[in-house]
Amino acid sequence: MAKVLYIEDNPDNMQLVQRVITALGHLFLWAGDGVSGISMAQLEHPDLILLDINLPDIDGHEVARRLRSHKNDLLHVPIIAITANALKGDAEKALAAGCDVYMSKPVNIRELRAQVMGFLPDAKVPNALG
Ligand code: MN
Repeated sequence: MAKVLYIEDNPDNMQLVQRVITALGHLFLWAGDGVSGISMAQLEHPDLILLDINLPDIDGHEVARRLRSHKNDLLHVPIIAITANALKGDAEKALAAGCDVYMSKPVNIRELRAQVMGFLPDAKVPNALG
């Protein structure tokens, strides 16, 4: 079992992603804004971070930059950016800020599951009872 932190202010997206993560057998943590997301990451040392870009305080790019700063030990934790920003260049911006992967909203469950299993290969295979 791995620990996955989702930094996201939208409760509907949070619940959708929570179902995917827990179905994979992982522990799910949630923070509703960027600053508390960084605090929780420093406290909980998640194995994977899912990161919304449009957050109520600092944006996801800034969150990624702070997580990647040399002042903390979160230099290498994988970060998947998940955002509704469909503007050209946003993917590049997320990657430049330190994210490993960029996914667009609405969240595609199949794609999310594949990405998470790629970063956390010890996930249990969901059984027939789901
Ligand atoms: Mn948001």
